[in-house]
Amino acid sequence: MNRKQLLSKFASRKRCLVTGGAGFLGSHLCERLLAMGHEVLCVDNFFTGSRVNIAHLLDNPRFEVMRHDITFPLYVEVDEIYNLACPASPVHYQHDPVQTTKVSVVGAINMLGLAKRTGAKIFQASTSEVYGDPTVHPQTEEYRGNVNPIGPRACYDEGKRCAETLFFDYHRQNGVNIRVVRIFNTYGPRMHPADGRVVSNFIIQALAGEPITLYGDGSQTRAFCFVDDLIEGFIRLMNAPDEVTGPINIGNPVETTVLELAERVLKLTGSNSRIEFKPLPVDDPMQRCPDISRARSLLDWQPRVPLDEGLGRTIRYFQEVIGNPAVATPA
Ligand code: NAD
Ligand code: UDP
Ligand code: UDP
Repeated sequence: MNRKQLLSKFASRKRCLVTGGAGFLGSHLCERLLAMGHEVLCVDNFFTGSRVNIAHLLDNPRFEVMRHDITFPLYVEVDEIYNLACPASPVHYQHDPVQTTKVSVVGAINMLGLAKRTGAKIFQASTSEVYGDPTVHPQTEEYRGNVNPIGPRACYDEGKRCAETLFFDYHRQNGVNIRVVRIFNTYGPRMHPADGRVVSNFIIQALAGEPITLYGDGSQTRAFCFVDDLIEGFIRLMNAPDEVTGPINIGNPVETTVLELAERVLKLTGSNSRIEFKPLPVDDPMQRCPDISRARSLLDWQPRVPLDEGLGRTIRYFQEVIGNPAVATPA
């Protein structure tokens, strides 16, 4: 490498903070940012994340891990902040709902305060849950949602909605450079085996030959995005021109019923598990599918990994976890 190339490599190297970096999405993001040549500071309180998810990154001299709860202030010097810290599955975010609202709201205030002081660009992992149980289908970013503010999902939905409000107020009031992504159901290797999400539950049940727990009649829909596609969307949004603040939907617009998902998992695993119908949880959205026109036009992004391929890769991951419990991520 000549001197010019070396200098340009250092000029484009950024100090990136990833909160929730030891979690499912965060660990894939840390990996991707390191591969791009950046320095990564992973901040996590290990509530649902695990060291195992980032063990393969620890030898990289550009990677650093800090145990810290972002509901407390954090003083570090960085160029970019990816704010992912928050339990994401209904089982985990309902475990301590007050803490879920705190991490969403107080955590966002601290990270926005950090961005304001350092001038760092800041990215918020928001969610399709801001649309609640939607009455508009598929969901565009203009849709304002149908959220029950006092139900069991509200700590997450309303916490994330308030975080979006804070992002746009820090942007308007303090000129903070923001990026807000609304993530739709994502799956892939390093999903937490005990997070109760439909993809992890069905795969683990199918591999163990246990009944597949189908809530309701299985006619409710979701659209499942493979993790690699999602991370590509994150990177494109963070590197888009400054006026592209979002909110922007990132997800796979191929809608599937939960019953179809169960059938696909059974087929791909070759399992003989039977389907067991269970009651539908309170406030469980009946239909969810992103309109990704904005991501297509502003980021030239769309998902590439078909469901069967992504499920195959996730099944192989869970086979490894079951075969070698050291790979699993205990709560
Ligand atoms: P995850 O539970 O695997 O990761 C969340 C991480 O945040 C974990 O490592 C956890 O230990 C950490 N964390 C939680 N509270 C913290 C705190 N107070 N301080 C520091 N760290 C804390 O979940 P995920 O699926 O990787 O989700 C990452 C982000 O993406 C979340 O903000 C979530 O709301 C959002 N999201 C995910 C999905 C999805 O389908 N996976 C969908 C919509 C939104
Ligand atoms: N904050 C932080 N790191 C920083 C700067 C601020 O954690 O580098 C926290 C700080 O504790 C404060 C919050 O971010 O509670 C919001 O900061 P801001 O400057 O917006 O508000 P103020 O300090 O004026 O209340
Ligand atoms: N679900 C199911 N069986 C399970 C876990 C979930 O039928 O073992 C259903 C759940 O009721 C919901 C859908 O699958 O309708 C997606 O659930 P998940 O918790 O993965 O995500 P979210 O509801 O947050 O979209």
